[in-house]
Amino acid sequence: MDIQTIKEQICDVCHKMWQLGWVAANDGNVSAKLEDGTFLATPTGMSKSFITPEKLIRIDARGNVLETAEGLRPSSEIKMHLRCYEKRDDVWSVIHAHPPGATGFAVAHRSMDMYNMIEDVAAIGSVPLTPYGTPSTSEVPDAIEPYLEEHDVMLLENHGALAVGGDVVTAFYRMESLELWAKITINAVILGGSYDISRENIDKRRLACSFSGICHKNAREYTKYSLRFLFNLPKNLPARFDT
Ligand SMILES: [Zn+2]
Repeated sequence: MDIQTIKEQICDVCHKMWQLGWVAANDGNVSAKLEDGTFLATPTGMSKSFITPEKLIRIDARGNVLETAEGLRPSSEIKMHLRCYEKRDDVWSVIHAHPPGATGFAVAHRSMDMYNMIEDVAAIGSVPLTPYGTPSTSEVPDAIEPYLEEHDVMLLENHGALAVGGDVVTAFYRMESLELWAKITINAVILGGSYDISRENIDKRRLACSFSGICHKNAREYTKYSLRFLFNLPKNLPARFDT
């Protein structure tokens, strides 16, 4: 894929993130890896609604700036992005945002380890809550690193969400699926409870999608980070959802 196309994809995703309400003010960041081993990243201090191709910054694997428009610096969270590329050869794009449904889980200190939506069980797998790290420091990449090998989507405690993919659009789709799944689950809890899909039906779906290659690798390890919180709660509205 040529650089201009990747730049346009990043801008398109940035605009969608803002339109979807996943970011406010200067929140969020998007990056992509290029064939020559350099990276494109969104600038710090700019709304995702204003990103245009010439504002994207080209950096090397250490975060050094190679090309930039005057006065622009790469995202302050670029260390988190670079750690994803360093640890996963299959990752070519990283997206960070604060989608309100998924971030609600991160603020409530809850992983998304539910068996309630079959397509998400198959495509995303379990979504861990990674430990809190001070934004823009190496605490954040250190906190996510243990989860990177098994997960394409993660929650950042008291902060937001992170998605990686083999290209910009795939990373975006994963964040989009995460957010819809979070909203559906919150709605189910408000309506009285979220119910598990049987192990038998999960295995049937996993078997079917393994032939098409869409099944996430950690779908079979689904209880790894299990809190199973929704199924341990009373059917009525839990107190912490009242406020
Ligand atoms: Zn953030």
